Amino acid sequence: MEHFAERNIIAAIARQQARTAADLVRGIGDDCAVVRKAGGLVDLWTTDALVEGVHFDLAWHPPELLGRKAASVNISDIGAMGGRPRFALLALGLPAACPKEFLDKMVAGFLDVLAEHDMVLVGGDTVYAGERLLLSITVCGEMAEKQVCYRSAARPGDLVWVSGCLGNAACGLELCRQGWQGQEEYALLCRAHLDPQPQVRLGRMLAESGLIHAMMDISDGLATDLAHICQGSGVGAEIMAEEVPLAGELQKAAAALQLSTMQLALQGGEDYQLVFTSPAQNSGPLRNLSQEAGVDIACVGRIVAGAQVMLRQDGEWRDISFQGYEHRF
Ligand SMILES: [Mg+2]
Repeated sequence: MEHFAERNIIAAIARQQARTAADLVRGIGDDCAVVRKAGGLVDLWTTDALVEGVHFDLAWHPPELLGRKAASVNISDIGAMGGRPRFALLALGLPAACPKEFLDKMVAGFLDVLAEHDMVLVGGDTVYAGERLLLSITVCGEMAEKQVCYRSAARPGDLVWVSGCLGNAACGLELCRQGWQGQEEYALLCRAHLDPQPQVRLGRMLAESGLIHAMMDISDGLATDLAHICQGSGVGAEIMAEEVPLAGELQKAAAALQLSTMQLALQGGEDYQLVFTSPAQNSGPLRNLSQEAGVDIACVGRIVAGAQVMLRQDGEWRDISFQGYEHRF
């Protein structure tokens, strides 16, 4: 069977979808669709599905944390535009033998995250799904139209920033796979995979500040997600390997697992941190905003004329565009 990159499938569907609407501000192609409503506000729409055996493994993913993650990865896309998540729809595909206790715990975790973000579950569906558990979630958010942060707004000369540390989730997944999940020293990394924390508050603060140009969340690895910003904006980017923020725990675990920290950080995916671009003169105010938000940010490179995401590591340049997590079809 021929394999297609996810972005090629999305592009093909977008080409088939020729219709538009007067109040549609942005359709297919960003973290969320943007629909205008009254009072200078827009609704943000996003959906994401998690499939057993592809996105999670019940051998190590407790039901509460699976429910939490399903909510968080969707909420992250609202934060990536700078919006406030409001409502969720939950569609469950359940295998034949799904214990009620498991289901209750999973839904409880899902609802806990919604409560943390002052959101409401407003509907959904439950269907029989044969062998595998499937969670398909739609989230609606809201924000001021003039504050929406698109992927297409990066400009040459902008600096490239990321929140938090990168690679923790990919490393955590590998630790879970290898059965090291119970080890105290790896708790932070495993948690990053099992229960990621979407940067919604930081995203909103950045959007409201007017300090940034483009923004998206890092779901497939910086190499791919920054390439989406570059493609959407018609620009290139240069990333300095030594500036990529790495947790001390990641460096230790990567050494123990004999994995490359840079590969985990740039290609691993699922960190649900934010990547954003900003004019160089805004760096001071951005650092103040980061302190106020209580979330570290790091400048990892800059936007340039061109079309590639280039990484400088050990004095050598290489093209890492779209080298992140690949969904296989
Ligand atoms: Mg996204």
